[in-house]
Amino acid sequence: MKAWRFSEFGGIDRLHLETANIRDPGPGEVKISVAYAAINHVDRLVIGGRLKWVPLPRIPGAEYVGTVVQRGEGVEDCSVGDRVAVFPKMFCGRCRFCTTGQESVCLEAWNPERAPVDLSTNMLPSSMDGGWAEEAIAPARNLVPLPDSIGFREAACLPLSAMTAHHIVKRVSPVAGSTALVMGATGGVGAFAVQLLKLAGCTVIAVVNNKSQEQAIRDMGADHVIPRTTSPVKEEAIRMSGGYGVDIVVDSLGQTTFASSVGSLAPCGKYVTAGTLTGPVSELSLMLVYSRQLQIIGSTTGSKKDLRAVIELAASGKIRAVISSTFDFDRLPDAVENYMLQGRMGKVLVRIGEP
Ligand SMILES: [Zn+2]
Repeated sequence: MKAWRFSEFGGIDRLHLETANIRDPGPGEVKISVAYAAINHVDRLVIGGRLKWVPLPRIPGAEYVGTVVQRGEGVEDCSVGDRVAVFPKMFCGRCRFCTTGQESVCLEAWNPERAPVDLSTNMLPSSMDGGWAEEAIAPARNLVPLPDSIGFREAACLPLSAMTAHHIVKRVSPVAGSTALVMGATGGVGAFAVQLLKLAGCTVIAVVNNKSQEQAIRDMGADHVIPRTTSPVKEEAIRMSGGYGVDIVVDSLGQTTFASSVGSLAPCGKYVTAGTLTGPVSELSLMLVYSRQLQIIGSTTGSKKDLRAVIELAASGKIRAVISSTFDFDRLPDAVENYMLQGRMGKVLVRIGEP
């Protein structure tokens, strides 16, 4: 089978389309014929060598969907021919977090010696080959079935981006009538966060790169839009929320937006961080936190329950994937380049085994 693989850490020029032998699935594993894969930040981290212990060569691809073509020993919950999404994190299924439906913080998958802070290192392509290939091996416990009413192309946007957005919204438990600000609303996670916050009954203010993205994000349900290159985000957010600030801020950008995010919050407001795309370190006045009774909340990826929920919501048409572009498999490096462009709206996908 063909796979995009790298043997040295570095830029995307390290990726090569190779003919790779794929082993049979071991006990508890399945082999999947990959239909579509998506490009995500975590893949770039893996290729770039942020996780130095990843054995090489490696096939990236944290987010993918496809069809089960072979089952390993002891696999009974799925059949050959099943259409599936792959939960993108390794988890043990036994620890106190896994058994309470919080697989994203599985204690056994976290290696504090390698990554004392970063729990997210148990993402699929840091532990085993991912889905930038015609076929992939995955633990059977990671599979979530896809209903026939959802196509592979749309489904490929769900295992990481939509699931992450669903988990974020769960972490802030919004009350209907709240006002929520979404930074980076045009990204993969952001566009789903806008839709899910609307479904929860929030008034949503979406922060986009520029005015040309305004209509698209309004079509996703945003009530107000702030183009960040031409408008002061904090001042506009406070004005749009009636002068006192917003109840919820969703911010996956991190360092560069932190001050305006926290500054936009109303008393008892909740700031949720789900990524640090622009850097991880920021200053915070604890006086602001206690005197306004703010909550600072972390959220990373999600649980299998979150993934099942977004598959159901997408299958019933309550949320929809925003796809920026789709590339053929042999042009995968172009897809990664495209992913890195500013002003992109939604997901970048790669068509692999699906016509
Ligand atoms: Zn566990």
